[in-house]
Amino acid sequence: MSTVPKLQVPSIGIAGSSQRFPVRRIFCVGQNYAAHAREMGADPDRRPPFFFSKPADAVVPSGSRLPFPLRMDSLHHEVELVIALNGGGVNLRANDAASLIFGYAVGIDLTRRDVQAEAKKSGRPWDMAKGFDRSAPIGPLAQGMPPSQGAITLTVNGAVRQAGDLREMIWSVADIIAFLSTYVAVAAGDLIFTGTPSGVGPIERGQTVRGTIAGIDPIEVTFE
Ligand code: MN
Repeated sequence: MSTVPKLQVPSIGIAGSSQRFPVRRIFCVGQNYAAHAREMGADPDRRPPFFFSKPADAVVPSGSRLPFPLRMDSLHHEVELVIALNGGGVNLRANDAASLIFGYAVGIDLTRRDVQAEAKKSGRPWDMAKGFDRSAPIGPLAQGMPPSQGAITLTVNGAVRQAGDLREMIWSVADIIAFLSTYVAVAAGDLIFTGTPSGVGPIERGQTVRGTIAGIDPIEVTFE
């Protein structure tokens, strides 16, 4: 018999700890800030949140130098609050969902915008637009509940591209977990990207992208 492959569980760093947080799945919420929904041509009413996902091994730590992604015409940045779960369930109530949060971090939902636009037009899946290799840079996790307000920003080579506030989120972190748990059983190790403020835009080769949320460690990656 051929050698059976041994796989490593992907993981992300925890601020102030030598332990790492194992990643089970990565879920992402679309259009959870009104101004971003508008810039994508959508109506930012309180329709239920919608979800897509990235593979667990798409995580990338801060400080990485990344090869420019394959088949790339339009790489876009989306800075987001990422939450990490230490428990799960189905059909959770928002109050119970909040108690499942291990911690939070700032992440970048890297997006092939041209592929996404074509998929939307053709009614095709978003996987290759959102779930490509190294599409989920995430900073170290801060333990505890994420703040419901505070600055969330992204710069490219030091120039501010996105400058929002967590209080602009249409659906709260607890609501998002509760909604997600009506589709799938959420579980310990799950990460959730919670949507991006307005100002998404292109990244070019050679540029450094830095995402911040007030009070926690940033995420910074440079593209080769
Ligand atoms: Mn996003």
